Amino acid sequence: MPTGTLHIDLEAVAANWRALDRLSASSCETAAVVKADGYGLGMTRVAPRLAKEGARAFFTASAAEGLELRRILGPEPRIYVLYGHMAGDTSVIERADLVPMICSIDQLTRHFETLPQKPFGIQLDTGMNRLGLKQAEWAAVADLALGAGPVLIMSHLASADEPGSQQNNAQLSAFRYMTDGLDIPRSLSATGGTTLGPGYHFDMVRPGIGLYGGLPFKDATPVVGLDLPVIACFDIEAGDHVGYGASWTAQTASRIATVAGGYADGLPRSLQPDLEVMAGPVACRAVGRVSMDMLTIDISHLDADPTHVTVLDPHRTVDTVAGAAGTIGYEILTNLGQRYTRQYRGDEPA
Ligand SMILES: *Cc1c(COP(=O)(O)O)cnc(C)c1O
Repeated sequence: MPTGTLHIDLEAVAANWRALDRLSASSCETAAVVKADGYGLGMTRVAPRLAKEGARAFFTASAAEGLELRRILGPEPRIYVLYGHMAGDTSVIERADLVPMICSIDQLTRHFETLPQKPFGIQLDTGMNRLGLKQAEWAAVADLALGAGPVLIMSHLASADEPGSQQNNAQLSAFRYMTDGLDIPRSLSATGGTTLGPGYHFDMVRPGIGLYGGLPFKDATPVVGLDLPVIACFDIEAGDHVGYGASWTAQTASRIATVAGGYADGLPRSLQPDLEVMAGPVACRAVGRVSMDMLTIDISHLDADPTHVTVLDPHRTVDTVAGAAGTIGYEILTNLGQRYTRQYRGDEPA
């Protein structure tokens, strides 16, 4: 096993899509967000499995991702682009039959000038202040935009992972104020909003992270596992230091294993000192700093040297590791390196 192995369970991805789909009424479509290469897990494998499960609407961030997805999925599914219609994207949007989610007046103008007959959606800003037309802008261009028949109107919640946050309710009210009475499909919620209840569902929900097993979908089936090979094991004396900056000092004679995986493989330097990995059934603590391609663990308490260790499994999810690194599961997942051998469970090879 020369490199680490990233196990990706496509059956679990499909089960998560079904579970999220069940949270909303049957009249509400459940899309799938596959930006950033399917949250790092491989859009070429994840998207066809989701399509097979019944997903008919997909979201990418960029038009380039949308073009790749169109090649993967063929002509049927609708592909929405969250960056909207950026300068330079016109021909790709047309060729790949993408639906740009227009997010500014500039984009609206660009779309009408270059692809006047082609479908588009509208993004409204209800308080996140990231993308979308603000209330006054929407008031100014709504008639014009609605006259051209947008296929979807959406907004995005900033605090949906905190069910008690006042911002959820405020954004919901703003969205309703801007869109109530329009005869156009509406979408407000990603994974977090999907778990907030039917008032947040409208005509379409757009989960991403929940499909891949991450919070805030608490009932998610875990999707990823990560095993790393051990390169070498050796003894050190009490008082010896381990790793860059000599940040860890052995209190007693210890045995150390050096493992093939570091921050270039998506294991943040900030994981140490709180990372634990499993050698079979036994937890081992990372000691010394995480380096670019390696980390070092204390195996003094093991009966035998391990050949590999497990960083992610159903009990240590991306959110567990994220907690140790002071970040979120999204960031751990999307940074899992390209160096790993990927083993997919649950579909035929593409
Ligand atoms: C990324 C994203 C999603 C999916 O979000 P998750 O939290 O991963 O479910 C949905 N909508 C928009 C606008 C996004 O940027």
